[in-house]
Amino acid sequence: MNTLLLLPVGKIEVSILRDLSIAISGSLEVACEILPYVLDPTPCYHPERQQYHSSEILQRMQALVRPQDWRFLAVAEVDLYIPILKYVFGEAQIAGRCAVVSLHRLRQEFYGLDRDDDLLRQRLLKESIHELGHTLELHHCQDYRCVMASSHAVEWIDLREAALCGSCRAKIESKLNESAGQVTGNDVAAQVRSS
Ligand SMILES: [Zn+2]
Ligand SMILES: [Zn+2]
Repeated sequence: MNTLLLLPVGKIEVSILRDLSIAISGSLEVACEILPYVLDPTPCYHPERQQYHSSEILQRMQALVRPQDWRFLAVAEVDLYIPILKYVFGEAQIAGRCAVVSLHRLRQEFYGLDRDDDLLRQRLLKESIHELGHTLELHHCQDYRCVMASSHAVEWIDLREAALCGSCRAKIESKLNESAGQVTGNDVAAQVRSS
């Protein structure tokens, strides 16, 4: 079975990563492992935006990938952006091996609402499967309930189910069945895609 490596970016609650790893393994034929080290996002901070450039985080992750590694999913608390957008929930290398998601705008507190740990975990699971799907060459899906639907606001994430539609599921299953050792495009600049 392929192993998804979960990489904490900065300080992340261990229970969030542990619950995410259980939830992903329950949704997909994928094993999860939490890496014992942390990626420091500080070099990716841009004071003029007071945000962290997600493509730069992906570039730094790329340096950690060993030939035998399948996919890396970084989980950050910090607010992410790419220059053409106000913010992103996450970013992935299409057909690459790295993706990053942020908890920042998944938290109800960000919107001035009461903390909701269950909702936070659901949103994180959806975003994580979505970005992992991009690394497995899945594109945005027209079915708004599918986890591969695009979302530009948190309400859209809530509309999605934490599952893939039939067509996306078939695509991801065929990708998951491919050899874990296959190396595909790792060119961040050419392959990036925001959530
Ligand atoms: Zn779909
Ligand atoms: Zn997307």
